[in-house]
Amino acid sequence: MKRIRELIWGLISLLLIVSCSACKSVEEEPENLVTKTSYEILASTIYETTVYVFTSNLPGPTVMIVGGIHGDEIAGWQVAQTLVTKDDYRGKVIIIPKANILATTLQKRYPGQETKGVYQGISYSDLNRVFPGKIDGTITEQIAYAIIEEVEKYQPDYIVDLHESRRSYADKKSPLIGDEIIYGNSKSTFFAYDMVDLFNKEYLAVGDIKFAVDNSAPMGSFNNYCGNNYEAIVLTIETNRQLNLSRRIEQQLAFIEILFKLAKENKS
Ligand SMILES: [Zn+2]
Repeated sequence: MKRIRELIWGLISLLLIVSCSACKSVEEEPENLVTKTSYEILASTIYETTVYVFTSNLPGPTVMIVGGIHGDEIAGWQVAQTLVTKDDYRGKVIIIPKANILATTLQKRYPGQETKGVYQGISYSDLNRVFPGKIDGTITEQIAYAIIEEVEKYQPDYIVDLHESRRSYADKKSPLIGDEIIYGNSKSTFFAYDMVDLFNKEYLAVGDIKFAVDNSAPMGSFNNYCGNNYEAIVLTIETNRQLNLSRRIEQQLAFIEILFKLAKENKS
């Protein structure tokens, strides 16, 4: 009888030790405390736009996300605006939701897109062809320069540019670059393939076209410049504007979720 009692007490003690150590390991995971700050670039001009910075006490990569380089690619800048309302980032995350704010207000690729680049007496051009821009250049070049200054300041590990295309790469008549992830340098290649594989396996919905990988970023684009000049993994998300807006937004948010998941695994 005594032996049985000892055995029972032994088992109870063991259970207590096991459960206590489980408690301890939960306690050891620190709370994710995220500080959110923001400031304006191109301040006191009509191109003034907000940069949001999220800094966590937990380790993680530095990720920069840019939306609104093209104002008519609505899913991109709407997603970036949604991302600034989140508060669970790790590491450091920098978001510029409306890089070309006047273009997003007008919902045009760039101001004056249909009027020879002139809007309200000022000349503009495609922002995504003038990177890295110039401090004393045209208005468009000055916007590009201000964005590159942010890249210089934070030296991100990941740079993500949110865009859309008028048609899919799979369009039979006139293919473009929709439904693609474009990578900016060889360092980004495997990461881009992993993102697309995971999306096509786990996130594809009825009516979606499988995403593909491409490396066709043109000269002067944010992707091309950053890919060639920084050590970062550089990616452009190009949703397909033939799909409805809510689905394109879901797709872009899914890719951001995938990026953070893979970046966490990739931290070595
Ligand atoms: Zn674009």
